[in-house]
Amino acid sequence: MQGVIFNIQRYSTDDGPGIRTTVFLKGCPLACPWCSNPESQSAAPQVLYRYTACKMCGDCVRACPQGALTLAESGVAVNREKCVVCGACARACEADAMKISGETKTIDEVWKIIRKDLVYYETSGGGVTCSGGEILAQADFVRGIFEKCRASGVHTCADTSGFGTTEAMAKVLELADLVYFDLKHSDHEAHLRLTGVPLDTVLANLRLAEASPAAVTIRVPLIPEHNNSPETLAEMARLIRENAPSATVSLLPYHRYGENKYAAVGMTYPLAGLRENTPEELAAAEKVFAKAGLEVSVSK
Ligand code: SF4
Ligand code: SF4
Repeated sequence: MQGVIFNIQRYSTDDGPGIRTTVFLKGCPLACPWCSNPESQSAAPQVLYRYTACKMCGDCVRACPQGALTLAESGVAVNREKCVVCGACARACEADAMKISGETKTIDEVWKIIRKDLVYYETSGGGVTCSGGEILAQADFVRGIFEKCRASGVHTCADTSGFGTTEAMAKVLELADLVYFDLKHSDHEAHLRLTGVPLDTVLANLRLAEASPAAVTIRVPLIPEHNNSPETLAEMARLIRENAPSATVSLLPYHRYGENKYAAVGMTYPLAGLRENTPEELAAAEKVFAKAGLEVSVSK
């Protein structure tokens, strides 16, 4: 069993309780414009070029067997039609400006990395988080990792958009101790327009998560002008009460941390110029969910 991943982050403290190893899976059926990991969207490996690290030496251009690279004043241009993702440019680049994002690994290879930190999980109450991308798109692989964790008493967290088949969700839920579950909008049309997938599927999977033994935290990104009006937030609170009344809620302020990565994978950031949340907005949003009787906090 193999999976495509784009990062394995050890000593993470942002993806669940305690010290964790977070396995980031590549490939996502959603296309949220605020996505902070654009390199996670494509399921296939791809070239990642960072202009800020580039020394403009041209070594990658000379190494490319496909003639897919050209050096200009503005940096190296990647012709992604010609690129076959052979990795020769990344191997030639001493400045680490050219990389391949995405590699295939077996469950055993991932477990070998995870088990290095067993002592940290135990002493900190941490464990392993599978994140994405969308983990339900590689549910068997995630399940394989969670099986290894379960056998060694390691806490597991599934970080999901909630979009995937019922079978995929059930496979992951069976071995998850904690689920981080995104809710991005309350309106069916707006959800489809913003994310590219239907809200109904997400809500059906949310009910499955609620019915499972896993603890559920619903994560709501607060995106100015897109989903943070008081009416939309109140409606999201109502949906949570209706579909997952025992879940806690974590509000995620909008940030632009991922903006620079868009150029690195040849994409344009869809929300350029969008402002961040004001402190007043965050406080008001928290009140909406608390008023609905939900346990809510604002994430950093
Ligand atoms: S991955 Fe290979 S084909 Fe693609 S740009 Fe780099 S050297 Fe050229
Ligand atoms: S080899 Fe690396 S540093 Fe040199 S031009 Fe290519 S990306 Fe830039």
